[in-house]
Amino acid sequence: MGVYKRLRCCGCDFKKIMIKRLDNVKLNIFEKEDKLAEIARKKLGKDIKYIKILRKSLDARDKDKVCWVYSLAVSSERIEESAKELEKLPSAPKVAVIGGGPAGLFCAVRLIQHGFAPVIIERGESVENRRKTCEDFFCNKKLNVNSNVQFGEGGAGTFSDGKLNTQTHDGLNKDVLELFCRFGAPQEILYSNKPHIGSDKLFTVLQNIRKYVIDNGGEYLFNTLFCGLTQKNGKIQSVIIKNLKTQTESELKFDCVVAALGHSARDTFKMLNKSGLAMQPREFAIGVRIEHSADTIGFAQYGKNYKMLPAADYKLVSHAHPRTVFTFCMCPGGVVIPAASEEGGVVTNGMSLYARNGANSNAAVMVQMHKQDFGEGLFDGMEFQRMIERKAFEAGGGNYKAPVQLFGDFLRGRNSAEFGEVKPTFASGTKLAPLDGVLPSVVTQALKAAIPDMGKRLRGFDSAYAILTGVETRFSSPVRILRGGTGESCSLQGFYPCGEGSGYSGGITSSAADGLKIAEKIYEKYKTH
Ligand SMILES: Cc1cc2nc3c(=O)[nH]c(=O)nc-3n(C[C@H](O)[C@H](O)[C@H](O)COP(=O)(O)OP(=O)(O)OC[C@H]3O[C@@H](n4cnc5c(N)ncnc54)[C@H](O)[C@@H]3O)c2cc1C
Repeated sequence: MGVYKRLRCCGCDFKKIMIKRLDNVKLNIFEKEDKLAEIARKKLGKDIKYIKILRKSLDARDKDKVCWVYSLAVSSERIEESAKELEKLPSAPKVAVIGGGPAGLFCAVRLIQHGFAPVIIERGESVENRRKTCEDFFCNKKLNVNSNVQFGEGGAGTFSDGKLNTQTHDGLNKDVLELFCRFGAPQEILYSNKPHIGSDKLFTVLQNIRKYVIDNGGEYLFNTLFCGLTQKNGKIQSVIIKNLKTQTESELKFDCVVAALGHSARDTFKMLNKSGLAMQPREFAIGVRIEHSADTIGFAQYGKNYKMLPAADYKLVSHAHPRTVFTFCMCPGGVVIPAASEEGGVVTNGMSLYARNGANSNAAVMVQMHKQDFGEGLFDGMEFQRMIERKAFEAGGGNYKAPVQLFGDFLRGRNSAEFGEVKPTFASGTKLAPLDGVLPSVVTQALKAAIPDMGKRLRGFDSAYAILTGVETRFSSPVRILRGGTGESCSLQGFYPCGEGSGYSGGITSSAADGLKIAEKIYEKYKTH
């Protein structure tokens, strides 16, 4: 963003030059002000030769990171104008990005490229702390409802296979992959037909994104819950946030708020509904995770030389039952992970490391659900998901163990007594229990018809020893926050629903692409500033 002004420069006549304002430029207390020019050039290009400090303040909110914060006027010509005149340059609009998942982070990165300094508000922890908190949950069953496999820096896909399937022909997908590489993802994602990063490499990418955002004037507020908003004449005014460490609430004013909340922000969806946001219920799918040995899948896909090749994947659809059944989020050489974000619920998902060298391979087997299954109300789908997660919790013994059953026993309606050749990988433990009591009968019937049908196309898929782990409920968001052509909420100006939680994407790549799209919409709105 910038403006043209008639200014006297370098002692010569008044001439028309381009000057820009840069807000929220930070220097730590050990850095010299000479560095400001370097920062301005990094952000706005080599042509920047002159800077003028408009404002300087000390930010001592975090005693370990006390820093100076500057507002600058920058130009390619010497600026002789009085500071008062320059202060009239409009400051960049203040943008909050709620949610540090792929949608929120890629939105923030593109906003920075356009000269904004977004504040990322994230209920969960930084990826380093989040990893420890998740391990604590897996081993000691201590669930942190704000920082877990669904919530925290990187969003829901941080503990994932990091598949970057596009499934859409959005031109922004290429930008997403290039940005991933810029922040440390392996270059092969640019040419592989099935690109994947792996959970281990994703951590580094997230840390690099954070460094970029902070170095360029953006800010992260971790452990901070977006819990309310204020509006005036149909326009967003501010967000109410709660510091989850101190439990204190405060109000921050913003011109734009990007809501990239993911599909599991149930409390926030309710708050937004109460605030009058236009929302709609959405249909989704539910199911189980199926686990085989990676050797079974490798042999079925590649034949006897499968060990020479990367761990094999698959993608299956069955119409053997009136309900479509499909596999989803396949993790070759991966593990099934506990993905609950609410107390008293069990949720499964899958994850693998870059090497994909685990003994098992898993995928979700999902059954499409319709409103006739869960109701027409805005939150009926969400409550239906919750009810199934609670049943799974009880069936697993009430301590975040997952209910599991061998496929052969599930098909024949009998209890499993012991595991066969495949051992479950679910990190917080499993309990052999019938899944018929956990899932609605339309789901179990569809699975019983579809898995043998899939086995006709992938040998061993319907092995009696395959393990089914319940339940896979967080497939997609059960609600949509309606937005119009400007990217803004249909009912609240300046509020931008974004990514999977708002019902506009599914998966890492399309959510990141939606983040870029919303950043472009915001830039379009303010570029004449
Ligand atoms: C275990 C697992 C494995 C997966 N594997 C893959 C895969 O391999 N490939 C793939 O494409 N997809 C995968 N997915 C799906 C993928 O992660 C999501 O589609 C994607 O993360 C959605 O991005 P998003 O930014 O829209 O939302 P999210 O990633 O869900 O991010 C939303 C963020 O908002 C934050 N938030 C929510 N409410 C608030 C609030 N009130 N205040 C502050 N912060 C808030 C959350 O903490 C969260 O960090 C996986 C998901 C999981 C759970």
